[in-house]
Amino acid sequence: MNFLSVILFSLSLSVCLAKQLPKHEDKCHNLLGDELIAEILSYEKVKDEILNYVLQGDFKGQTYDQLAKFVDKFGARPSGSEVLERSIDYMIELTREEDINDIVTEELEVPHWVRGEEKITMLEPRVKDISLLGLGRSASTPPEGITAEVIVFENYDQLDKALDEDVRGKIVLYDPIFTTYSETNQYRTQGATKAAAKGAVASLVRSIAPFSINSPHTGSQTYGDEANKIPTAAITLEDADLIRRMYDRGENIVLNIKMSSTLDTKVSRNTIIDLKGSVHPEKLVIVSGHIDSWDVGQGAMDDGGGLFISWAAPVILKRLNLIPKRTVRSIFWTAEELGLVGAYAYEEAHRNESHNINFIMESDEGTFAPLGLIVAGTDKARCIVAEVLKLFESINASTLIEDDSPGSDISVIIKTGIPGASLHNENEKYFWFHHTEGDTMNVESPEELDLGAAFWTAVAYIIADISVDIPR
Ligand SMILES: [Zn+2]
Repeated sequence: MNFLSVILFSLSLSVCLAKQLPKHEDKCHNLLGDELIAEILSYEKVKDEILNYVLQGDFKGQTYDQLAKFVDKFGARPSGSEVLERSIDYMIELTREEDINDIVTEELEVPHWVRGEEKITMLEPRVKDISLLGLGRSASTPPEGITAEVIVFENYDQLDKALDEDVRGKIVLYDPIFTTYSETNQYRTQGATKAAAKGAVASLVRSIAPFSINSPHTGSQTYGDEANKIPTAAITLEDADLIRRMYDRGENIVLNIKMSSTLDTKVSRNTIIDLKGSVHPEKLVIVSGHIDSWDVGQGAMDDGGGLFISWAAPVILKRLNLIPKRTVRSIFWTAEELGLVGAYAYEEAHRNESHNINFIMESDEGTFAPLGLIVAGTDKARCIVAEVLKLFESINASTLIEDDSPGSDISVIIKTGIPGASLHNENEKYFWFHHTEGDTMNVESPEELDLGAAFWTAVAYIIADISVDIPR
């Protein structure tokens, strides 16, 4: 991580943290009233029961063990692949073994992009192999590849100001400084389209990561409707730095890029598992993670961890015979990585019953030690969640961060006005491994997964059981 990234990262983190709720304690007290606050506090005992069962009892180590079995058996589970469908069948079977049988799958069409051979060779100023990963949906090069000079931009401002004739026929390299993922990934998602508009023949992006051991990070990108579909790939931080140094010295850099891939569509499934509520079965508290992954690595972290703590929630509640008033629904989204495809299909298919979604949760930014929740909703909704989170001080998971668009898949549902939250966790190293060959079980920890599963389950239970709906 370079020095400037550290400063920018810390700055953005402290801005986030400054938005925590405790300051608004008085406001929350007025909005909720003594009775509701006392009611939420009364869940202390059931929260302890869940935490004890997962952290010291029979469920200890189970989330990690089950995740490891799953990841070791299936490995990567890219959108549209047969292995993804088999992994969905496996999760259904695993859930049935827990005697949870309210399971449905909903079919949808998903992109099926298959990476072929990829190679970049630097030809000038010296011969060197450049590690790369093509970006999702990237077009192929001709068999002999594309050989062209490189032009480097740190941001879109510089690209916009460049003359078309200086970009035409070249390979654009975007070399942005990593600030936050959501801010920096525009150079991956839109880079090819913007470079093509200026006449570039291919585009490369510095991997969207704050740290690297020479690993390229793939990810999604889409071509604009009008765009000339030029091949596009991510290269490592090390190679991006090398090329930039050469470029700044005025050296002429020539690359040969060879990439091949295929793109079609296949049918996949969202998986929906219900632990039916005892009083209001039609009302839903949703926990979720996505079951698909990139084709590189094993998808253990992204999003095996989120998948398994969301699988664990109804399982743990069922085993403890804790049936809340509302239904706890666990969703395993499909085809998240190629553009939240499963989430969009779910939102459309369930629009007429969206009034029944009381609260929606997702874990897709790592399952390291939980710290709390990143919450979207009205002031009163946030105050209720803040009060629930106070119950988790013993495991240091009481922080509430406000964000109007938390999560990835659930952002599709939240933008329709439904309150929800993503897991806030100690994920400072998440983007070190994200979308790389390094996303393996070695990133996961049994203790942290236990904490995550216990927290996730207890929060879902309390919100599904309290006397009030989460207001909109
Ligand atoms: Zn993910």
